[in-house]
Amino acid sequence: MGAHATDHDDSETDGPKVLSVSPRNPRVRTIQIHRPAPQDASFLAATAKGLGVTLRHFFKNVLRGKDHNYIETVEYPEKKVDYPERFRGLHRLMHRDDGAVRCVACMCCPTVCPAHCITIVPAQTDDKGIEKFPAVFEIDELRCVVCGLCVEACPCDAIRMDTGEHAKPVEERHDAVMTKDALLELGARSTAVQGGEGAAWRERK
Ligand code: SF4
Ligand code: SF4
Repeated sequence: MGAHATDHDDSETDGPKVLSVSPRNPRVRTIQIHRPAPQDASFLAATAKGLGVTLRHFFKNVLRGKDHNYIETVEYPEKKVDYPERFRGLHRLMHRDDGAVRCVACMCCPTVCPAHCITIVPAQTDDKGIEKFPAVFEIDELRCVVCGLCVEACPCDAIRMDTGEHAKPVEERHDAVMTKDALLELGARSTAVQGGEGAAWRERK
């Protein structure tokens, strides 16, 4: 039992039953609220239903998992899933034909990076055709949101995310920062071609 103030007469609808109305203010009324049905109030039926789903999956996994390929989880790290060809993995810095870093420190990628996780310190080159190179090039893979915008922004195919590897777990924060040397080591897996080679470069190696 309780008193509520409402703007309409609930007695004409399926709402709570109106028991009395105040003679001084018709908006003040006493209404009767029905208790929920026992099966709704106890949650027993819902609990049993959820438990049934859990048990069904449990016995399916235990009794026929391996034979029927029912289990959808992977026993990582013993087994690994194949990433799709266009999976964005760890970055790599590409090399030129002469082995030099392809990046010209144009600063397009740190400018476009939404996570501000690329650090470049440009330096002058002796090469007359190329003005600058990155003396420092670091990517904080913990801050990276794997958006791929750095790859899109690069005007000379100097940075890619086609390694097919995800960032490795680290214990120290600074270990998540990929240095220029580490990026170039991954870049040495193939030589850059303007416009990219697509995922097929992995088969050629
Ligand atoms: S993938 Fe996105 S977040 Fe990561 S370094 Fe490139 S631009 Fe920044
Ligand atoms: S966009 Fe490309 S060339 Fe420019 S700084 Fe980044 S990696 Fe280097």
